[in-house]
Formats: sequence, C-alpha cells, structure tokens
Amino acid sequence: MQYVFDFTEGSKDQRDLLGGKGANLAEMTSLGLPVPPGFTISTEACRSYLATGREPDGLADEIERHLSGLESGMGKRLGDATDPLLVSVRSGAKFSMPGMMDTVLNVGLTDLSVAGLAAVAGDQRFAWDSYRRLVQMFGKTVLGVDGERFDHALETRKKDRGVDSDVDLTVDDLRDLVAEFKEIVRGESGTNFPQDPRTQLDLAVRAVFESWNTDRARIYRRQERIPDDLGTAVNIVAMVFGNLGPDSGTGVAFTRDPATGEQGVYGDYLPNAQGEDVVAGIRNTLALAELERLDKASYDQLLDIMETLEKHYLDLCDIEFTIERGKLWMLQTRVGKRTAAAAFRIAGQLVDEGLIDEDEALSRVTGAQLAQLMFPQFDPAASRTSIARGMAASPGAAVGKAAFDSATAVEWAQRGDDVILVRRETNPDDLRGMVASRGVLTSRGGKTSHAAVVARGMGRTCVVGVEALRVDPRARAFTTPDGARVTEGDVISIDGGTGEVFLGALPVVPSAVVDALYGRAAAPPSASSGPESEAEAEGESSDVVRREVVSAVLRLMRHADVRRRMEVRANADTGEDARRARDLGAAGIGLCRTEHMFLGARRKIVEHVILARTPEQRDAGLDELRPLQRADFTEILEAMDGQPVTIRLLDPPLHEFLPDLTDLSVRVAVGEATGSPDAEAAALLAEVQRLHEQNPMLGMRGVRLGLVVPGLFELQVRAIAEAAASLLARGLDPQPQIMVPLVAAVQELEAIRDMAEATVAEVAAETGTALRFPIGTMIELPRAAMTAHAIAEAAEFFSFGTNDLTQTTWGFSRDDVEATFFPAYLERGIFGVSPFESIDADGVGRLVSIAAWEGKETRQDLELGVCGEHGGDPDSIHFFESIKLDYVSCSPFRVPVARLEAGRAALVTEGSDSR
Ligand code: ADP
Ligand code: MG
Ligand code: MG
Repeated sequence: MQYVFDFTEGSKDQRDLLGGKGANLAEMTSLGLPVPPGFTISTEACRSYLATGREPDGLADEIERHLSGLESGMGKRLGDATDPLLVSVRSGAKFSMPGMMDTVLNVGLTDLSVAGLAAVAGDQRFAWDSYRRLVQMFGKTVLGVDGERFDHALETRKKDRGVDSDVDLTVDDLRDLVAEFKEIVRGESGTNFPQDPRTQLDLAVRAVFESWNTDRARIYRRQERIPDDLGTAVNIVAMVFGNLGPDSGTGVAFTRDPATGEQGVYGDYLPNAQGEDVVAGIRNTLALAELERLDKASYDQLLDIMETLEKHYLDLCDIEFTIERGKLWMLQTRVGKRTAAAAFRIAGQLVDEGLIDEDEALSRVTGAQLAQLMFPQFDPAASRTSIARGMAASPGAAVGKAAFDSATAVEWAQRGDDVILVRRETNPDDLRGMVASRGVLTSRGGKTSHAAVVARGMGRTCVVGVEALRVDPRARAFTTPDGARVTEGDVISIDGGTGEVFLGALPVVPSAVVDALYGRAAAPPSASSGPESEAEAEGESSDVVRREVVSAVLRLMRHADVRRRMEVRANADTGEDARRARDLGAAGIGLCRTEHMFLGARRKIVEHVILARTPEQRDAGLDELRPLQRADFTEILEAMDGQPVTIRLLDPPLHEFLPDLTDLSVRVAVGEATGSPDAEAAALLAEVQRLHEQNPMLGMRGVRLGLVVPGLFELQVRAIAEAAASLLARGLDPQPQIMVPLVAAVQELEAIRDMAEATVAEVAAETGTALRFPIGTMIELPRAAMTAHAIAEAAEFFSFGTNDLTQTTWGFSRDDVEATFFPAYLERGIFGVSPFESIDADGVGRLVSIAAWEGKETRQDLELGVCGEHGGDPDSIHFFESIKLDYVSCSPFRVPVARLEAGRAALVTEGSDSR
C-alpha cells in the first residue's frame, strides 16, 4: 500500500485518492506550470488514521522518504538553522470544503531557524512575521488554542503602536508577539510550542486528518451531501512567500465571473501578504486588474496560465497564487464553484465556444440550480433607494430581520422569522447562522471571501464588502453612510444580483426563468430605468445577464427533453394546478387526489352518507355528491385533454371528514347539562367514537374504505366515467386512469376492479359512448411490493407511493418522527439525508425495483410511475431512471427540475450502459 505520492506522480482524475487539491496540484505540475514542489498523503491514510486512531504502518517512513526527496530537490533541510526549508501542511478532500478543514503554513520555523530565514531573505521583519503566523496557526489548529486569544493580542499590539495594519508592525513588535503567542500556547494547551521541525510536521499532519471531523466540517458535509467517510488528503508543499515586501503578494482569481458567468479577469490581490489574508478579509484587497500596474510580467503570466487552465479543464477554474519577489507561483486550482445563473450561462457559453457539447453542458447544471433560478426576485418596477452597495456575491432577493451573530440568527429562524445575518466578515463558526438565514451581508471581503464562497455553495443570497456600512457587532447595529442606524431586528432587503442593500422589505416578483418556462415573454429590457443603470457602470447590465441565463436554461431544457427517457407528470388536484403543470411541461397528471373534493361545504353531505341509517338515506347523499364530483373531474380532464390523468380514489380515514371528537363531546355535554340535548350531535359523536382509531395511518383508509363503505368508490368511478363521456361527446380526448390506494393484497384490487368495470360499462351503456379506462394501483405497502407478481394480474399500472412506502417500510410516521428524533438520526449519520426527501435506495428503493421487475414479468406493458414527493427530487430521479420506470410525477413547480434531472439521469445511465 502506497500512502504518499509526489506531485509529479498524480493527475486530476485521482481526486478520490489525492483529494481535489492534491490531484490538481499534480495536474498543474504535469502541465509544466510553476507549482512549488511537494507531495500528497492519500485519503486512504486519513481513513486508516480515523478508523484506528493512529497513523498506518509505513506512513512515517514514506513521509520521511518524500521529505528527503523534497529537501534534496530544494537544497535545504526542513527547519535548518541556517537556511531552512519551510512547508505548508494543507487539507484537501475529494470535494472542496472551503475553509472547513485546517492548513498550517510555515512549518519548520523554530527559535533557531527563524534567524536562518531572516539571514537568507535579508529581512528580519519577514522572518518574524512568518514565525508569528506559524505559532498562531499551529496553536489554533494543532493545539486547539482559542484563536481569539491570538487575534486579541495582535489587535492590542496594533493599537498600542497606533497602526491599522499588521504590515506596519516592526521587527521588535513581531518578536514580542511571538513570545506572547508562545506564552498563550503554553498557558492554554499546557505544552510548549514544539521546537523540533519534524515534530511540527507530524502533529500538523495529524491535525489535518482530525480536522475532517470538526463540527463545522460535518455540518458543511451534511449541507452539501458529501459522504462522511471519504477522509481528507494532506498536501505538504514547499513554502513560497507573499509576505516578502511590496514586490510580493498573494491572490485568488477566477477565469470567469462566478456570480454571473461573464468572461474576464476576476479576483483579489493583496500585496505583501501570506495565504489566508486574502480570504480572511483582514485587509481590503485590490482588484486583480491592479496587479497589471504593480507587476506586469507576473500579471501577463497569470493570464496566460488562466487561459491554459480553462482550455485544459474546459470549465471555469478558480486559482490561488502567490508572487514571491516578482516570481509567480501557483498554489491551487479547481473547477470553480459558481452561482446557479453562472452555471447555466457558462455551460451555454462553452457550447457556443465549441469547447463542450450539449450533453456535457447538461451534465454541468443541476436541478437544484434550476430550482434556485426559479426563486422570486425583487420587483424591478418597485421604487427603491439603496442605502449602500457592495459586491453581488450570490444571487437572490432576501428580506429579513437583521441579526448580528450566528446564535441569534439560528434562534430567530427557529421561531419562524426570516433573518439576514449581518457581519463584518464571516468565518467557519458562522456556518450555522448562514444556514439558518435568508441572506448574508458583510462589510468586508471580496467575491472570494468566506461569506461569498460558502453562501454561493449553499444557494444563499449574499452581498459582501459593503464598506460604506459600519457594522458594530457588539452594539448589534450598523450605520449607513448618511447616518441611519439599523439595529438588531430591523427589516432589511439585500439583492444578491446587484449587491444593493435596502431598508425595509422590498416587494418580490417571480423570476424571469419561470416566466420563460411558462412561455411568457421575458421582461422587456429596462436599460433606461433607474435602479439598474448604476449596475451597468460596473460591467454588463443585469438585463444582458438575465437574457443569457434564460436562453441557456431554455436551451438545456430542450436538450434534456431530447435526452430523457422518463416522462414527467405532475401531482395536481385542480384544473388550475393542472394547467400550470402542463404549461411547465408536464405530460399528464400522475396523481390527482380527491380528498379535498369532500371538504368545505360538501363535508355536511359526507356526514349524511356516513350517518345514514338506511341504504336510501345513504344513496341520497351519494346522489347529491355525484354531480359535484363529476364537475371536479370534468374540469381537470379538460385541462389535461389528451394526456393521462391518474385519479386516486378516496384515501384518508373517514373520521377526517367528521367533526373533531373533543368539540363534539363538549357540544353533547353542554346540551345535556342545559336540558336541551342535541340529538344530531349525539349521533355524530357515537359515529366519531366508533370510527376513532389509535393509528389512523394504518387504519381504515384507502382500499379498505372502498370495500367497507358501500357506494363510495362507485360514486367516484361513476363521476369519472360520466365526466369522460360528456367530454367525449364534446369531441375532446379525456384519458382518466383509475387508481386504487393502499392495496396490500390482489383480492382487494380485484373486488374494486370488478365494481369499477361494471360501473364504467353502465355509464357507457347509458350514454352510448365507448369507455375504457386503465385501472391500476398504488404500491405503497411492503406487502404490495412483495406480491407484485400477483397484483399485476389485476393492475394495468403501478404508481409507487413512495411517501407511504417509506413510512411503512421504516415503520415510522412522518409527522411524528421529523420533529422528534430525525435530527438525532441525521446527526448520528443513520442516514445522510431524510428518506422522505431523497429515496432510501437500499431499502425502500429495493422494494420499488423488485415490484417493478416482478410486475413487468406478469404484465409486459405494465406502466410504472412514481407519485411520491421523491418524484421531484434529483437524486431519487436518478435512481428511478436506473430502474427504468416510465415516469415520475411531482408538484407542478418541480416539473422543470424533474425534466432537467430526468435528462441528466438518462445521460448517466446511457454512459454506464455503453461502458
Ligand atoms: P484552503 O483549502 O482553506 O484554501 P489552503 O490549503 O489552500 O487552504 O491554504 C490556505 C492558504 O495558504 C491559501 O491562500 C494558500 O494559497 C496558502 N498556501 C498554502 N500553501 C502554501 C505554500 N506552500 N506557500 C505559500 N502559500 C501557501
Ligand atoms: Mg485554498
Ligand atoms: Mg398514500
């Protein structure tokens, strides 16, 4: 087993083993780009360490060998007293987790080697600054010292010296700080800062392994659905120094704008600084374009490299670089995160540029991103005056109460308030607050600051670097340039598309993408209207962005429709919903529930049916309901003319249509007490008591209801048949499918089927029309799935009701578990995501695939679909594609997402079939 790999050995395709950072450092090395030499300890080693609590056998030797190689290549020894080699020890997992795990810079500096470094560099200040950083980072990440302690000491020192920035501190200041930091380390951790370079290295490697399991890393993984068992690689990289004076510096860059997808040079640069200074927002950065003025040669080389990377990765890349006394070094690259809008736009652009084909473009956007673009935006027509403007870091329109710390944001969100988290800058400890908030606003930092990167990843609206706002977290307030003061709890609005901040709640309108998906014309260009003209001064107008994003979405939707094998239907119960679903591309109704048709004013009639003493009384009630049902079905069948409409016969327990038990008891008791007994209430009460169930979910509902309450299902079937007959008479093409819920045994279905066929035949005879509808069943009980062979004898279609199937397979009721023990289950990793959100492929999914398979064996043309909420969930859609269902059905608004994901899923299975 080899655990350590030199940068010259790996490639970008080895992210599993080397992590993204390591794989791409290796890739850049083999492209001949200027990467400092180094090596990567594999994720395998990390997994072994995390499983056993100690480094795997042989790892220490391998590190020793690679370190010697590095030392001889560099002509320096790690931590040498006269000319020390220093290294960084960097985390880097398969999937990027920005700022979530640890990195330690300047490893190898000691009381001895700091003098050597100073002598070689000819710069005392630089050497002590580097040492100060090491003690700080090592103390915090390796020895677990509270970082605030160091920050506080540094701030105090700056204040004492009357300087604003750490670059203005003198050698003596820094030397004192190192002594002070070492004291803090000793005091807080009980150990001395280690003076042996190799010990530093080993402890740092171990700390990076362990940083895989910090709270914030776990939260991030859950949020991003990154598996918990991957582990991180560790990269040991020879240090290069951006803090060697004004001709040195460090920066980050994107090959395209990650917020809008616009082509150009985007990034931040900070002269005379090391590593994390840029993202940390400690000093305000320069726009990358400024580098051209400061160091044209490095700037030009950087642009060349960026072009090389885009052509090589065929995608937007982000990079980290450092300039050491005029020499450019590449420290990281990866395919960059981007907003949903940028994802679609860039995919479209790359197709236009001939770099990728439409299949590839489709694989680069996701349903989740499309869903984000379907969110509402601020009404462009509403009058508004922004109080300040920063950088548009992650789009969307967010309105909420200002909260100035993470805990408050979480607390308010839990009680149901919309919150905007306002910070000077965020750090990984703010993660919970960011998750809980509608939007994030910071006064510092650029497009690559922690707030920006994390918010983009989570799809949170985010505005950063609003320098005009003075944020005072202690006073829980900020002040605007014209002196207005916003305190905790005041409502503000932020526009993540323009970077604007507003007082109060701005009105919100539907997105342009939704308009376009509905086939409504996109909003007319508003270049001349007020609010946006300011934005144009900075670059493209937001109209251009919007138009290009909309056209990329439509183009990829078309391609997804070409590619997908599965149909997408919608769950809709009313004509209006049906029309909306159809406009959004649904090819039918996969689930039309009928329970709402028995509520409201009609509930009284249902009561009469249930309370009827004689068949005549009952039939009178049913006769009263029939024309109403017929009208319901006529409306929906008409809206979906020519497309299948799967109508589910009544499913919920009867008592849901009767008054509440307690209310009734009170009514009866009051009547008796006042000497005027209420006979009707008493009768109802008796019935309600009779129908009361301990576990209604598992009680008399679904097909059981149809078998026990005479005439009920018959009424529904008759109404469907009459509606169809009347539509046929009008020359339309109604296509109802009759679906029986909660079947467990084929005998149940057979009984309903006989009744239904007879009823349809009656209506056909009465109306003189030829009527025949498919009759099928939901598969939502394990027994149904396990007897699919037999059930398919009586069913022309199966519709997997994965909500109930999940409940009955796991044996828990959703309403009860989601609020009680689910958080604990998620916390403990019993599942990574709720099985109600994303199908549990191993358990529930297996039942679905067995039933699908066996059903098809009985009946070749058995139609197979899904009507649970999973029908609109991207991961679940991929699963349903893999077991070759015919369609998924989801809520109307999810239909575009399902179309896109069904297309993407087909690409994936096509790819794996041909392999
Ligand atoms: P993260 O994953 O949080 O970005 P990194 O491992 O990339 O952490 O490192 C943090 C910062 O330190 C980055 O700005 C990176 O460019 C810088 N850095 C890492 N290694 C070196 C090195 N060998 N020389 C100079 N700077 C480095
Ligand atoms: Mg990095
Ligand atoms: Mg159900």
